[in-house]
Amino acid sequence: MTAESYRVGEFAPDILYIEEGHVRMWLLLGEREAILVDTGFGGGDLAALVGRLIGDRRLRVVLTHGDVDHRGAVGQFEQVAAHPAEFSSLDVGGALATGGTLATGSTLATGGTLATGSTLATGSTLPVGIEPLWEGTVFDLGPGRYEVLLIPGHTPGSIALHDPARGVLIAGDSVQRGPIYMFGPARNMAAWVASMRRLADMRRKLGEAAFAHILSAHNDLSLDGSIFADLIAGGEAWLAGRLVGEDPGMDRPCRLYRAPGVAFFAP
Ligand SMILES: [Zn+2]
Repeated sequence: MTAESYRVGEFAPDILYIEEGHVRMWLLLGEREAILVDTGFGGGDLAALVGRLIGDRRLRVVLTHGDVDHRGAVGQFEQVAAHPAEFSSLDVGGALATGGTLATGSTLATGGTLATGSTLATGSTLPVGIEPLWEGTVFDLGPGRYEVLLIPGHTPGSIALHDPARGVLIAGDSVQRGPIYMFGPARNMAAWVASMRRLADMRRKLGEAAFAHILSAHNDLSLDGSIFADLIAGGEAWLAGRLVGEDPGMDRPCRLYRAPGVAFFAP
């Protein structure tokens, strides 16, 4: 594993990004703390690279969601935070899955349904060191004050980090021109459209400046909130059956749907 798998760039002095192939992670530098948003495919020594970039800051790892290109390197970190609706995606094997905090921890292990289930109790499904991340949690980094927004649809527990004062939204795969992956058991277009409407409503209330820099995990480095109109219209058109599916160009159970300003891989 080498750091050569990664390319580091700077969006702002306190907002770096790390690209691994076609996926992009974000590294937010606070005064004493740093947040790594997502972990890529896990093709290199991400922990060592991040350690060099953050210096003596304390590191927190946050996952926007549990897709394979975002959770790949979670096993390199002691603790990662994700929305509980993503926990079932985090069966990563290796270091994290071998038992520990969650399997032995008092809350889960002592009571009720969860503790009696064989999967959880044996530590095989849920990685250790995974911390639940809830809507409304705020990470105050000094420069940058990021609030967690739950935006389900691409996955059930997709989250975004939002700093309205600086107009920054880090939204994983959910806000981009795509093609956005919307096929598979856990994905739901209606939920995704509802989430995009929620963000558009927030933009109307807080002002356009609150969504000036939407930092993306794929394709464009940054977008602005004017994209919400395209995303909502495209999702609604798909739900209404108005988009025509094309050959997706890959051997997966989906079609490629194009709408103005957004595309989807969807059933
Ligand atoms: Zn992705």
